[in-house]
Amino acid sequence: MNQKFAGVKGMNDLLPGEIEIWQHVESTAHAVLARYGYSEVRTPVVEDTALFVRSVGETTDIVGKEMYTFDDKAGRSLTLRPEGTAPAARAYIEHSVQNLEPVSRWYYVGPMFRYERMKTGRYRQFFQLGVEAYGIAEPAEDVEQMELVTHLLARLGLTGVSLNLNSLGDDACRPEYQKKLVGYLEAHREALCAECKERLTRNPLRVLDCKNERCQEIARGAPSILEMLCQPCQAHFAEVQRLLGVLRVPYVLNPRLVRGLDYYTRTAFELVAADPVLGTASAVGGGGRYDKLVESLGGSAVPAVGFALGLDRLCLLAKAAGQVPTGRPELFVVTVGPAARDRALELATGLRHAGHRVELDARGGSVKSQMKRADKSAATYALVLGDQELAEGVAQLKPMAGGEPVRVALDRLEATLTELKQS
Ligand code: ATP
Ligand code: MG
Repeated sequence: MNQKFAGVKGMNDLLPGEIEIWQHVESTAHAVLARYGYSEVRTPVVEDTALFVRSVGETTDIVGKEMYTFDDKAGRSLTLRPEGTAPAARAYIEHSVQNLEPVSRWYYVGPMFRYERMKTGRYRQFFQLGVEAYGIAEPAEDVEQMELVTHLLARLGLTGVSLNLNSLGDDACRPEYQKKLVGYLEAHREALCAECKERLTRNPLRVLDCKNERCQEIARGAPSILEMLCQPCQAHFAEVQRLLGVLRVPYVLNPRLVRGLDYYTRTAFELVAADPVLGTASAVGGGGRYDKLVESLGGSAVPAVGFALGLDRLCLLAKAAGQVPTGRPELFVVTVGPAARDRALELATGLRHAGHRVELDARGGSVKSQMKRADKSAATYALVLGDQELAEGVAQLKPMAGGEPVRVALDRLEATLTELKQS
C-alpha cells in the first residue's frame, strides 16, 4: 500500500460544499469595500522575520510563540505572515506610496499563520480580511471604518456581533496609565497565571487580554485607561464617539480592551460575536489606530488606522445563520441514444456561453440512471433529449421538484430558461 498523507495539523482544506460560503463572504466584502474607496493589495505570504518582531512586538504572543519562522537556503530568517498590517505597511513604505498620494485605502484577503493551540475557530492557517487607511489622523476615519465593518456584517446577515471600543492613549499618556496598572496588578500578582506574571514585567497591558479565567477576573477590576487619557487623546476619543452617534453605529465602551499587537495608539476596537458556534473564539475581528507604525518601520510620519476580520470565524457564523448559498445547476441534460449525445453537448455548450449553469454526464447510461444523477446534482430542471424528439427539434423540460414536463422547441430553449429564471 502506498503511503497516505494528511494535511498539516491546524490547516484546513476548503472543499465544494464549504467554499460557497467563503466565496459569498469574500464577494460581499469586495463589493462593500469598493464602495468605500478601498483597493486590494496582495503581498507575499513570507516576510523578513524582523518585520514582525519590530512591529508586532517582541513581547506579544504572536512573536513570542506563534510564528512559523525558518531559515531559507541562503540563511535569511523568514516568517510565514501571522498578520497583514505589518506587510502592508512594509509595501506602503517600500513603494513610497506616501509620495504618490496623500491618502491610501487598502485591503487584503489571504492566509495567515500562527502556531496556536487549535479549537473551533482557531487554526494554524486561517484567513483574514484586513483594511488599512493611511494618511488621515482624524477621528472620522476611525469611524468610517467602524461603520464599514458594521455594514459589512449586516450585509452578511450577521446580527449579534457587538462593537467594543476603547482608546489606548499615546506616548504622552499611556506610560502613566501603565504605571498605575502595574501597581494594581502587582497587588494581585500571586493570583495571576504564570504567563501574566511574566507579562507584568515585560508587557503589562497584555495581562488585560489574557484568556485565563482568574486573570480576566482581575482585569475587570483594573484601573481604566479612559480616565487617564491626555487632552488630545481625550478629544480624539470624544469625537470618535460623537461621530459613531451621528452614524447611529451601536458600540459598547470597554476600557479594558487592548489588542494583541504592540503598535496601537488611541482608538482600539474589537468585534465580538455572541453565537456559541465560535466557542471561546468569539472575536471575529479587531483593529484601531496605529499612528506610529509607518514611521517605526522606516517610513515617514504617516498616521494609519485599520482592522482585520477572521474569515474562518465569519464563515462559521454565516453558516450558523443559515447563509448557505447553493451551487445548484439550472439544468441537467439527459440524453437517450448516441445522436442525441452530440446535440446535447452542443446545447449545453451554447447555454453555458449564454450564462446558464448546465451539467451533463458524459458517462451516459439509461434514462433512469441519468435522472438519478440529475436529482443528485440538485438541478432545477432536467432536459430529456431523445433521437425522436431531436428529429422534431424539441425536448422535454422536467421540473425536478415535481410537476409535468413541458415540451420546448430547442431553438427556444435559451429564451425559455431565461424566462423561467426570472419568473
Ligand atoms: P484571539 O483573541 O481570538 O486570539 P487575536 O486578537 O489574536 O484573536 P487578531 O490578531 O486581532 O486576533 O486577528 C483578527 C482576527 O483574526 C481575530 O478577531 C480572529 O477572528 C481572527 N483570528 C486570529 N487568530 C486566529 C486563528 N488562530 N484562527 C482563526 N482565526 C483567527
Ligand atoms: Mg490570538
